[in-house]
Amino acid sequence: MFIPTTKKELDALGWEKCDIIFVSGDAYIDTYFDGCALLGKYLIKQGFRVGIISQPDIDSPDDISRLGLPELFWGVSGGAMDSMVANYTSLGLRRKEDDLTPGGINNRRPDRAVLKYVNLIQRTFKEKRPITIGGIEASLRRFAHYDSHTDKIRGSILADSKADILVFGMGERANLELANALKNGENIEQIRGVCYMSKTIPEGFVQLPDFEECAVSKDKFLEMSKLFFRSCKLKKGIFQKQAGRFIVQNPPALPLTSAELDEVHELDFERKVHPYYAAMGEVRALDTIKTSVLTHRGCFGACSFCSITAHQGADIVSRSEGSIIREITEIASRPGFNGVISDLGGPTANMYGMDFVKGENGHCALKECLFPEVCNKLPADHSRQISLLKSVRKIKNIKHIFISSGIRYDLILADRIHGEEYLREILTHHISGQMKIAPEHIIKSVTDLMNKPDGKNLKEFKDLFDRTVKKLKSPLFLTYYFIAAFPGCTERDQTEAKRFISAVLKTNPKQVQIFTPTPSTEATALYWTEKSFDGRKIFVEKNFSKRKRQKEIITERKKL
Ligand code: SF4
Repeated sequence: MFIPTTKKELDALGWEKCDIIFVSGDAYIDTYFDGCALLGKYLIKQGFRVGIISQPDIDSPDDISRLGLPELFWGVSGGAMDSMVANYTSLGLRRKEDDLTPGGINNRRPDRAVLKYVNLIQRTFKEKRPITIGGIEASLRRFAHYDSHTDKIRGSILADSKADILVFGMGERANLELANALKNGENIEQIRGVCYMSKTIPEGFVQLPDFEECAVSKDKFLEMSKLFFRSCKLKKGIFQKQAGRFIVQNPPALPLTSAELDEVHELDFERKVHPYYAAMGEVRALDTIKTSVLTHRGCFGACSFCSITAHQGADIVSRSEGSIIREITEIASRPGFNGVISDLGGPTANMYGMDFVKGENGHCALKECLFPEVCNKLPADHSRQISLLKSVRKIKNIKHIFISSGIRYDLILADRIHGEEYLREILTHHISGQMKIAPEHIIKSVTDLMNKPDGKNLKEFKDLFDRTVKKLKSPLFLTYYFIAAFPGCTERDQTEAKRFISAVLKTNPKQVQIFTPTPSTEATALYWTEKSFDGRKIFVEKNFSKRKRQKEIITERKKL
């Protein structure tokens, strides 16, 4: 069953109205990779009537009002990515194409989609219902943040949008508690995983420097960023003053348990675009999504340019092998299935089965597990994955199961018992043509600012890879992802990296991304303040053509 997006569907369900209406910046694809679809299906299973309105036209009331007013609340999301990242390249050029818009043309998701959709609802409906904002865009703009599009510090999106509640992180628990609290007329300010505006501050919460201070002082912004990330790791309540009021963030929602993760991933998803949007044109993202399977949540990689820690958290929660097998069996039994699972993975594919909660059971809350070196308490053990891979290969109608999600090669090296066996398994059965790894850089002074291992570690993995493919008599080869113009990286560093890449990796990389300072990552704080978290002044390339030049240094073809 699709979640309704038209009045006709409400009538067919015998629903006079919806309790909750989600508004999204992406076309509605009925899978758990679509945050609004996942929350919608989860809340319907809990007995609520839910509707979805995707990519409403912001210049007319028609789209936003076609399901009427919800009984309980609106849930607004910019989509799977921040709308400014979805709509613009790392050099600030508008993207022409969009894989999450029917027809593939980037012409339906407005810039700053969350702000625009909240404003559209407020303009269109005289009768008010609470508006919640969630998803990546809202989550990572919940406090003062650097906005690359305007090259300045912007205030909290909750304050700027005048929405009522912001749900940060993975939203199942918070949205269900919100729905029940609103249904029963209870206070919603106690719910974990939400932010709200207040005139008063709760006891024991961590105070961040005021927005107004951060907007004019880079040192204040750096101080704020360090305190924010530290408090996120400690799962504390946080607040920040902006325009005389407080943005209060409660402690994060507790992660779902493995059994709950199984439950939400086994909801009856159609794995198709809703016909209403499919009629508008092909949604290209469906091609990979419809046969992709998620095995776990969380990532303890802590790459400084990544927002997963601030959004999804570092704690690994894995689905059961049984649940994953049931899902693949269901996909493989569908008419038209071509025998291929395009991805079996997660934020980092090879963290499946390495479940632990930071700050509990002898694990610390603050240190990074993989940086500067792999912690000896880390349960770096690929055995559960190897067992899962062996099981899913036996499922009827399965020809190939690919791992397309990122793989941390330093984790394979760290697993002295099962690492090599895991590598053999994936190279033999689950990688086609080339194994993609993301060292991102080579030079220690840059990789240290990324919280990533340097070239020495990469060389060790390449040697293991070469030995393994030789034994397997396999034609597979490695391809590498690099980032150019990362904070702290000079042209000289790039040239030195190129020298290493040519001499040691013997390749001319093509996959080089120019660093994009996205909201609420450590790397973005480095970019804006031109300082490292220990207060050292660092070089940051901000000149458009020199940023491009840094990319060209790595991609230019060299005689190997
Ligand atoms: S003790 Fe080690 S493995 Fe555990 S959370 Fe801390 S750094 Fe990570």
